[in-house]
Amino acid sequence: MKLSSHKLALCKMKMLKLLRTSAGQTGIIQFNGVRKLSSIPAPSPKVCIVGGGPAGFYTAQHLLKARPDVQVDIYERLPVPFGLVRFGVAPDHPEVKNVINTFTQTAQHTRCSFHGNVSVGKDVSVEELQRAYHAVVLSYGADGNRRMGVPGEDLAGVYSAKDFVGWYNGLPRNKELKPDLSCDTAVILGQGNVALDVARILLSPLEILKKTDITELALATLAESRVRRVLIMGRRGPLQVACTIKELREMVNLPGTRPEMVHADFNGIAEALKALPRPRKRLTELLVKAAMEVPGEQEQERRRLASRSWAFRFLRSPLEVLPSADLTRAAGLRLAVNRLEGSGDGAWAVTTGEVEDVACGLVISSIGYKSLPIDPSVPFDPSKAIIPNTMGRVQQAAGLYCSGWVKRGPTGVIATTMNDSFDTARTLLQDLESGALDLLTAKTGSQEVAALLEERGVKPVFFSDWEKIDSEEVRRGEARGKPRDKLQDVEEMLLVARTQGPTTL
Ligand code: FAD
Repeated sequence: MKLSSHKLALCKMKMLKLLRTSAGQTGIIQFNGVRKLSSIPAPSPKVCIVGGGPAGFYTAQHLLKARPDVQVDIYERLPVPFGLVRFGVAPDHPEVKNVINTFTQTAQHTRCSFHGNVSVGKDVSVEELQRAYHAVVLSYGADGNRRMGVPGEDLAGVYSAKDFVGWYNGLPRNKELKPDLSCDTAVILGQGNVALDVARILLSPLEILKKTDITELALATLAESRVRRVLIMGRRGPLQVACTIKELREMVNLPGTRPEMVHADFNGIAEALKALPRPRKRLTELLVKAAMEVPGEQEQERRRLASRSWAFRFLRSPLEVLPSADLTRAAGLRLAVNRLEGSGDGAWAVTTGEVEDVACGLVISSIGYKSLPIDPSVPFDPSKAIIPNTMGRVQQAAGLYCSGWVKRGPTGVIATTMNDSFDTARTLLQDLESGALDLLTAKTGSQEVAALLEERGVKPVFFSDWEKIDSEEVRRGEARGKPRDKLQDVEEMLLVARTQGPTTL
């Protein structure tokens, strides 16, 4: 049957109308005056996710599970996936990294694809992604660092925990950090889990670290380390420490070390214990035990033989990093002595006017990560350092969503990030169902972005390419008796990713 061009146009219009009303579901169409039941395939929603960390993978996982037609593309700046699971989680916590298996299943899903080595905001803009996809989810984490804002902060020997963690975990950007560990005393500012990770890595026996995926470079530096004492400093008191009991227990039991707390810091704590909620009570009991209790004979002997020590110090805020005599590096910290006002978790520190100096050659500030704006087109709240959102919908930006640390700030473990990412996925799905997201405009997704990237000379690393990097790292690790030996150089990662067949670098 041949249709006149007029009839063909009419027919196309009718089909389009049908699509609009039925949102692509099976329906009745009129074709040349004849009513027919037809199933016109719904345009499949194309969603893109920026960031291949836990938030990105959990958002993708929920979307793929909830809708059989959604296509998800993940864009990641580095050639390797998994964000802070690879570059943050401590090397001696391999069990935490098991989430990588779930993320791998998501990445290998037929309707998901991973595009590493693509920096959004630089290689492709968010607006370009919005043109190519029905929805864009920003899950790019917290890449910045909170500064102490005190004189001397930029002296040699002062590092952010973010850089220090990146260094021992093989983050390419921190490869050249070369921390100077030639001093006796290190001060870590902050009392959260990251601070305790750093303290543990500084004090752990090498035999323990050698069996982890810590970098060889970090191992070699730690082997030469002369750090014998680590002070973990907080501006508030023992009832406000921000770590969890697992991390504290690891410190207490760390081979070759002993706790050296100040007894006076725990005056009155035993009485406060009864009124505490259960998790805080258990944490405080352990802290008090480590600080005050006379240990049994075996523990006494263990502590006597320990060559390294650690301690929490409370009610202190940094005022200045004191320079060495030749002004070239850190030699100490000037601290304000605080007292507490209020009580419990909400108590706040007020300076007393008293000042104390502590001699130390290494200062690591662990006072928090911070999200940064990604692209001028995306709203950003500089005071909270997050993307302003309502249940994951970016405010005043239709079609834009966010999940993970960039959505709620840099706190919470992987499980918190998972729940938060599932919430964002649910919000996006609601908008698909309600028609708030326009599905009728055809979107070409990765095809359009691939063309832009090619024009700009950017070559993405796909998940199968990452698998080559993964195999190479595991192969190198096996030779050294560790789970993997991470590649730390982006160029080398790209070289391995593009190698055909088994790698022999
Ligand atoms: P991220 O993990 O940071 O992922 C963001 C991703 O986005 C990264 O891969 C990044 O490269 C990418 N990206 C950034 N900018 C761009 C861009 N412009 N274009 C494309 N991609 C981009 N939780 C636990 O449960 N257990 C632990 O033991 C634990 N240890 C931790 C140790 C440290 C030192 C830290 C900092 C956190 C730890 N956490 C731990 C918390 C956990 O890592 C976070 O909850 C989680 O990683 C946050 O996920 P995210 O996806 O929001 O951010």
